Amino acid sequence: ERLVEIERFENEESLETTLRPSAWSEYIGQEQIKKNLGVFIEASKKRREALDHVLFFGPPGLGKTTLALIIANEMNANIKVTAAPMIEKSGDLAAILTNLEEGDILFIDEIHRLSPAVEEILYSSMEDFRIDIIIGSGPAAQTVKIDLPRFTLIGATTRAGMLSNPLRDRFGMNFRMQFYSPEELAKIILQASVKLNKEIVHEACIEIAKRSRGTPRIALRLLRRVRDFADVANEEKIVHSRTKFALEELGINSHGFDEMDIKLLNLLIGAKGKAIGLSTIAASLSEDEGTVEDVLEPYLIANGYLERTSKGRKATRNTYDVLNVNFEYEEGSLF
Ligand code: ADP
Repeated sequence: ERLVEIERFENEESLETTLRPSAWSEYIGQEQIKKNLGVFIEASKKRREALDHVLFFGPPGLGKTTLALIIANEMNANIKVTAAPMIEKSGDLAAILTNLEEGDILFIDEIHRLSPAVEEILYSSMEDFRIDIIIGSGPAAQTVKIDLPRFTLIGATTRAGMLSNPLRDRFGMNFRMQFYSPEELAKIILQASVKLNKEIVHEACIEIAKRSRGTPRIALRLLRRVRDFADVANEEKIVHSRTKFALEELGINSHGFDEMDIKLLNLLIGAKGKAIGLSTIAASLSEDEGTVEDVLEPYLIANGYLERTSKGRKATRNTYDVLNVNFEYEEGSLF
């Protein structure tokens, strides 16, 4: 059974790769980022220089990796993709860096998770394109300076706050990813359905879009699930009614909240206006605090369903409205 699971996972992964845009024209939304990056890319191409280091931050699935790949494409550069947890020792990073060539791009996902020792090496490589490596140990230890080619580091993080200041300061550009509007997500869904060779009506695109937490990765996952329902029902086209049916079956409510969101919002409302701490929330949902902070909360905050205060998390008026719960007034504790 496990093998089947793994195979399915790989299929999903490769599907995600297939659906990934490789050019600006297919990259929907994030207009401000596209505009600025476009200018900086053109300028560095004109000067025949490597692009300055770029940092993207925002919740998972909003298109950070995709942007890095498009930048590489635009710059005609090789890109090496890795993630901080894979770079355990400073030697690992040194090996990656010394293998780069002039103009190459190094993409490090989850860059806030680098160990301090690895980060140290990154500083000098980003700033001076040079690293100091210590060879040997004890009194015989020697420092060797190695020059690196001019490369571009693209970092991605779900948590800007977790990045150390010296690291953040070494990025020449940093961009905060925005959640996508339903209209933008509908375009992404339509574009993907063409690649999947499955026709879909506009209302169905919008229906999926509205329930995707503003996130392309979720929209594409839902599209694939809805397509499964349509295929099983022998429907050539993905129609609105089948889409609604499938999404209900999948337990996605019409505000785009999933089960976890609903649990969290109910928890907030249950507190009757008192703030709840992050650790309590995480424990009640059996999730780790990082997931609650990076994945669950940003969408709820962006849409005004959750408020972060110094004492913890609170429900808002919207939370009550959206869950159809009467607004209960608790003396002195609400808003
Ligand atoms: P992140 O690196 O932020 O977690 P990804 O770049 O892996 O997100 O994007 C997740 C999926 O969503 C990708 O497969 C990509 O196809 C799709 N995607 C993300 N952003 C866009 C976009 N702006 N336009 C079209 N597709 C997108």
